[in-house]
Amino acid sequence: MTANRPGVDDRRPRMTVIGTGYLGATHAICMAVLGYDVLGVDVDQKKIDALAAGQVPFYEPGLPEKLAEVLQTGRLRFTTDFDEAAAFGDVHFICVGTPQQQGSEAADLRFVDSAFTELARRITRKALLVGKSTVPIGTAARLTQLVQSVSPIGAELELAWNPEFLREGFAVEDTLHPDRLVFGVQSEWAERMLRDAFAPLLADGVPVVVADTATAELVKVAANSYLATKISYINAMAEVCEATGADVSLLARALSYDDRIGGRFLKPGLGFGGGCLPKDIRAFRHRAAELGVGAAVEFLGEVDQINLRRRARTVDLVRELAGGDLRGVRVAALGAAFKPNSDDVRDAPALDVARMLYLEGAKVTVYDPEAIANAHRAYPDLDYAENMGKCVRGAEVTVLLTEWDQFRRADPTLLGELVAQKRIVDGRHALDATAYRKAGWEYRALGRPAVVDTSVLIDHEKDAVA
Ligand code: NAD
Repeated sequence: MTANRPGVDDRRPRMTVIGTGYLGATHAICMAVLGYDVLGVDVDQKKIDALAAGQVPFYEPGLPEKLAEVLQTGRLRFTTDFDEAAAFGDVHFICVGTPQQQGSEAADLRFVDSAFTELARRITRKALLVGKSTVPIGTAARLTQLVQSVSPIGAELELAWNPEFLREGFAVEDTLHPDRLVFGVQSEWAERMLRDAFAPLLADGVPVVVADTATAELVKVAANSYLATKISYINAMAEVCEATGADVSLLARALSYDDRIGGRFLKPGLGFGGGCLPKDIRAFRHRAAELGVGAAVEFLGEVDQINLRRRARTVDLVRELAGGDLRGVRVAALGAAFKPNSDDVRDAPALDVARMLYLEGAKVTVYDPEAIANAHRAYPDLDYAENMGKCVRGAEVTVLLTEWDQFRRADPTLLGELVAQKRIVDGRHALDATAYRKAGWEYRALGRPAVVDTSVLIDHEKDAVA
């Protein structure tokens, strides 16, 4: 415990955060903001050097400022040395990646296993290992046996699970003001340690659910499955709309007024991606099958398929606007990140669509305000523009793939002066269809009729079309 420092509560555990990616760097920095002494640990020397020098190695609004603030206090340091980590920490948060395995839907737990084992082998006094990574149910139980078998202190080394719900783009706010905390524990001591580790948040009234480790693991995948299902639900309705001439935008709006349904995550479009939802629903389905309850979450396979079909359907719309053949057609792709306010391109629908267009022979130019470097690493064959103007200049079809504010706010008249043909596919239902049509654009969106039927428009839209 931190001791002998005036003004610092003796009960504040010293923390390590193992794995300083999107989740871990944010957690380490925010814990130091809350007043704890924190050591960030990663196997990636470059990442550690950048963080120690005050540079956040990814885009997350507000995080660089917080890093600068806490580095000055001396409460946050970074290392690649696991001996130092084992000696330093009372509570060790493990935040390493759990990507999808190659050739399987299961989660790849090699990084988790390695981080827990390397730490456990070195720990010589009572400490708590806390998993924050998203893992299949039963991982904590398996790891408890593993770490206790390799640790010099055996069963004195305890393990808990504390799943993380932060959203990229809002990570600082979500970490400092989470909507809930979940503590999956195996002893009262572990619960006390976690309460000490989150004392400032508990004092703020953040609700905490104390559970067994299996429930804690399940909360995370259950939450992500629910969100994915809601997105795919409205996108399934978009497919029905496309076959009937109905308008999914109006449908979503009408549904959203029902507060049993609610409007959040009911936005039709290109669907979900990123480093969490896709791999989490796949790993959940895989794990449920292993547990003999595969039928219970079989529907997540459909949720995944609906989501992936949106990408193919977006390509269809671009092809339709191009006259049926994409070969040689200049396409401006606005967006690469899996969502706005992030530079994360893991399983990004935007990049996937850009790649599919390219493979059909289109000349694709991509622009994203923050994700170009990551996108270029993932798909070096695509062309990348350094700004929106250069991206759309001469385009025969423009397609909005990530709903950055910069794209939403663009003036359709000015944009129209740059392109070769005023044709746009709004993959995110983020643009003002009426304003675009008024400025002479052919506007298409998934699940919306190609031709405007003014009889179903609300009044202000009627005026604009007229
Ligand atoms: P990431 O790939 O950005 O970061 C993982 C980090 O772990 C990397 O820096 C890597 O170098 C490091 N690492 C790998 N093996 C290590 C080891 N043995 N020891 C120390 N460091 C090691 O991944 P992320 O997005 O931060 O996700 C981490 C976990 O958190 C995943 O399980 C993810 O599902 C979960 N999660 C992520 C988010 C999010 O928004 N990114 C939100 C909630 C939960």
